[in-house]
Amino acid sequence: LWGQAREELQKIVGADSFSTWIEPLRLTGVSEGTATIACPTRFLSDWVSRHYSEDILKVLDRIEGPVQRLSFETRAQTARRAAAPAKRVNTPRPAANDDMAAPLDSRFTFENFIVGKPNELAHAAARRVAEGGPVTFNPLFLYGGVGLGKTHLMHAIAREIQTRQPEARVLYLSAEQFMYRFVQALRERTVMDFKELFRTVSVLMVDDVQFIAGKDSTQEEFFHTFNTLVDQGKQIVISADRAPGEIKDLEERIKSRLQCGLVVDLHPTDYELRLGILQSKTDAFRMQYPGLQIAPGVLEFLAHRITSNVRVLEGALQRLFAFASLMGREITLDMTQECLADILRANDRKVSIEEIQRKVAEHYNIRLADMIGPKRIRVVARPRQIAMYLAKQMTSRSLPEIGRRFGGRDHTTIMHGVKKIEELRSADHSLAEDIDLLRRLLEA
Ligand code: ADP
Ligand code: MG
Repeated sequence: LWGQAREELQKIVGADSFSTWIEPLRLTGVSEGTATIACPTRFLSDWVSRHYSEDILKVLDRIEGPVQRLSFETRAQTARRAAAPAKRVNTPRPAANDDMAAPLDSRFTFENFIVGKPNELAHAAARRVAEGGPVTFNPLFLYGGVGLGKTHLMHAIAREIQTRQPEARVLYLSAEQFMYRFVQALRERTVMDFKELFRTVSVLMVDDVQFIAGKDSTQEEFFHTFNTLVDQGKQIVISADRAPGEIKDLEERIKSRLQCGLVVDLHPTDYELRLGILQSKTDAFRMQYPGLQIAPGVLEFLAHRITSNVRVLEGALQRLFAFASLMGREITLDMTQECLADILRANDRKVSIEEIQRKVAEHYNIRLADMIGPKRIRVVARPRQIAMYLAKQMTSRSLPEIGRRFGGRDHTTIMHGVKKIEELRSADHSLAEDIDLLRRLLEA
């Protein structure tokens, strides 16, 4: 039956995408509405679950009987079953008008891209290129660390150009796919066709170009393709994980050509940008999980604590929503810490409780000893509660552990302190500002 499913999938996704993405898959079983699919690599399973879940589900559901979910297993980790929930909101489709093109993710649009200080330049440049007109920045070279939105912007550009100029041939693909196609053309002796195809596009977009570093014949071909297109005044957009000059094993002449247009980088996210992204993703998740409540402070907590990259941030939020809907409970700070313990640990900025106590004491001009001492007067007790609150927010210590460091207080005392500050915070604007300031000081 997988054979029949494969035939149908090939019709849906086209021969090229089929051979790249679907052909290597095997159906290993269907039970209780979940179809398990074996993939040779993690990369492949990520890609397929992101881009083809909907198609595979549809076909399997028709052929195999009721199938609601897909579970991808990589050969290396066959035991670990990671259920990939079907994406129902969108159906990503290849938008570029070419078999060679990689499919575009329909969520990666300009509308869905949150702009902040760290990415405003890259965003503005991407917009400008997407709006067309005389080719100004050629090539546009976008670079930045993993998960900062390079691929998102590339897809957004491709989609926008395609919408504005339906007749334009926009070719978006990863450098890896470029190489794969090139090697295939060499093997099948169709290099002339390959050259022809690339040299007749109106816009060429190559993602993660650092991949071709050290791959000599692919670099050579890329260089010629690049030059031909630039000479014809065609737009080129490239992304990489670092600046052109810093890509090792990339030929000098390629480096210098890559630098002759506009080179812009996506900086690591800051707190405001992360919060903005979380808010927008939360709105999207609310449609998917109607009725779910989020306690105040949870998004702020995540924006403070998960700083590695946007993909991790998104994954955390996704997990949180899935967990909360499963439990049928509101998303609280406690639940967040429990459910995301592993991610939070990995992102731990290693602020110690002692540092928090010291900074807070300094700020409110009280003695450090009063942080752990018994005094109950407000001028001492309130800063102490703020320190408890910050300890809970900024470290992954449990309430009993925090209690121990506040002079052996009981965990319920800590909980009470944290709650108190949470309440005050939403009512008292200047207290909220104070806390934000302290947090910044501690993070610096
Ligand atoms: P990169 O290609 O730089 O590694 P991606 O473009 O794949 O990163 O981004 C990783 C994830 O983070 C994607 O789901 C993307 O939509 C999301 N993302 C990154 N930056 C932003 C942003 N500024 N606004 C909204 N989503 C973003
Ligand atoms: Mg990318």
